[in-house]
Amino acid sequence: MSNLDRRPAAHELGGLTATTARPVLDLLPGKEVLLGESTRVRRLLPTMGRRLVGAWAFVDHYGPDDVWDTTGMQVPPHPHTGLQTVSWLLEGEVHHRDSVGSDALIRPGELALMTAGHAIAHAETSPAVHPRFLHGAQLWVALPDAARNVAPAFEHHRELPGFDSDGLSATVILGSMGGATSPGAAYTPLVGVDLALAAGADVELPLEPDFEYAVLTASGGADVEGTPMAPGAMLYLGTGRRSLRLRSDGAARLLLLGGEPFDERIVMWWNFVGRSGEEIAEFAAAWAEHQRFGEVAGFSEDQRLDVPPLPPLPLKPRGRER
Ligand code: MN
Repeated sequence: MSNLDRRPAAHELGGLTATTARPVLDLLPGKEVLLGESTRVRRLLPTMGRRLVGAWAFVDHYGPDDVWDTTGMQVPPHPHTGLQTVSWLLEGEVHHRDSVGSDALIRPGELALMTAGHAIAHAETSPAVHPRFLHGAQLWVALPDAARNVAPAFEHHRELPGFDSDGLSATVILGSMGGATSPGAAYTPLVGVDLALAAGADVELPLEPDFEYAVLTASGGADVEGTPMAPGAMLYLGTGRRSLRLRSDGAARLLLLGGEPFDERIVMWWNFVGRSGEEIAEFAAAWAEHQRFGEVAGFSEDQRLDVPPLPPLPLKPRGRER
């Protein structure tokens, strides 16, 4: 998926001033965003209140949507720089194609991890014949300076490690938890875990006190450290925690995201992460001129997503930070 916004805001992110140096319970208001003509997503990061959780820089939660009579997800070729995308499905199927020649059908429980690094272009579409429901999350991870120009790469892991306990079935998407380590490449200390809670689950998860964390309720509700969370909500947890108590009356699916606070300042605009407005303008010009990013096989030139008009330089941070 992608940021399809025609007037995307620029965000200046990172730096430890935006990190909470203690445990907190901060419910983040998601924002409904229209992607293309018909797909609605809930954007949970960045929000007015929070820009980053570790290196996690973007969180969209979509569905479950009934796509039986529709073409489903139709995100045409578009570019990325300086980040990784994590495509995570709870229901449905997505066909991934990119400019390094990847062509993969992604199913629930599989990790599609695209490292844009220097530059990549990709497209994500529902297959012509697809399951009735589409439900998932699109996550971006900011790359640190030392890795943000690595060669672009795509990893598809059909099997991921996990662990079970007391009504919890956990799948480790990135990083490590509970003795399980994801095979996905990570460039900063971080973790992403899918938590499937059975009805009546009551579990305590081990956390890293140096990490900051947030938890998203992808389906069902849950009680997180005593805070009731409705479906589709995100709760920022701050740093300094050694464990996290989760309880659920009914079945629920949660995503836990965490990482060492990201101490570099980054500029994020449209589908690019850079370090300055000038650099973002270079990326935008390169995409418009068919340079740098390569082409995605299976699409004609007029199907590419056009870069939106750049806001006036220098790009300024928008909104407030906590
Ligand atoms: Mn994308």
